[in-house]
Amino acid sequence: MKKLFFILLSCIMVSGCSSAEKSDDKSGDKTDFILNTVCQIKIYNEDNSEKTADELIDEAFDLCREYENTLSRTIEGSDVYKINHAGGASVEVSDSTIEVISKAEYFSSISDGAFDITIAPLSILWDFQGENPTVPPDDEIKNLLNDVDYTAVKIDGNTVTLTNPEAEIDLGGIAKGYIADKTAEYLSANGVTSATINLGGNVFALGSKTDGTDFNIGIQDPASTDGSIIGYVSVSNKSLVTSGSYERYFIQDGKKYHHILDPKTGYPVENGLTAVSIISDKSVDGDGLSTTCFVLGLDKGMELINSIDGVEAVFIDENEQYYFSDGFGKDIIFNYPE
Ligand code: ADP
Ligand code: MG
Repeated sequence: MKKLFFILLSCIMVSGCSSAEKSDDKSGDKTDFILNTVCQIKIYNEDNSEKTADELIDEAFDLCREYENTLSRTIEGSDVYKINHAGGASVEVSDSTIEVISKAEYFSSISDGAFDITIAPLSILWDFQGENPTVPPDDEIKNLLNDVDYTAVKIDGNTVTLTNPEAEIDLGGIAKGYIADKTAEYLSANGVTSATINLGGNVFALGSKTDGTDFNIGIQDPASTDGSIIGYVSVSNKSLVTSGSYERYFIQDGKKYHHILDPKTGYPVENGLTAVSIISDKSVDGDGLSTTCFVLGLDKGMELINSIDGVEAVFIDENEQYYFSDGFGKDIIFNYPE
């Protein structure tokens, strides 16, 4: 856990105020463990006359917890829990749940099912978050493949129905991005003009630095164990999200098994990529697309990114080669570490 803490905190390198400036009611920096990961919010400036920056951060973390209670697969009583335990009956859920599932369906359809929230039976079987995960028996993996099919999820108004009662959904590949957007909206509506929100590596740069220049957000080196970066992007009001094979994994018989699964095989994706970072206006898009592109691989993933306006990506492979989408150097500036 300590290592995870360090890596997640060091993957965001921002300089909003100089160290000479003292922290006051207008700025604050807090870290909490929410959404099964380390979350950090830094406010560099806010113009809210009623509340201090620390109070706003506490409220933002409360908001994250509320969304977790709605979108988590494991928290009893959440919308997702109800959908998964309804035995195929229709379940009425919140607007947020509908929004996230609709987005997920969109990423599934544009990727021909590379992104698939009905991956849940397989992620449960693999149990990457467990104490001692091991490779499940191949026949069990193959059996569960029948239940992985995003077209079994039907939305009608505010109800969700799983047409296959054995199907289960898991929003782990997209929910953090959605929650990062909602947190940014909340802070902005409450007078925050400069902040960074980091939900376990899902980063949103709200506004710009207090001197008006862009934030510099680091992209972690997937090969490093100490959280060092391959470079950084300079952005304002943008999200940077990375999906990587280094985030959650275990090693068995010298082989690495990570948590992004190929819905076609049931096994961790093996296509030579180690990380995909997405820069976008909305973090929900960055989160969905980083997972999608990781599964699609370099060629198809890059083709997809270059077909979407306002979204850029860096793909990194196991030979430490970096590949940049077409907007780099034009819309987005990448700088190597000094
Ligand atoms: P993280 O949430 O760790 O930053 P991702 O956004 O890439 O990383 O999401 C990985 C999570 O998404 C997994 O832990 C699992 O819950 C879920 N997942 C795994 N494979 C897929 C897939 N092919 N499509 C959709 N979700 C997936
Ligand atoms: Mg994702």
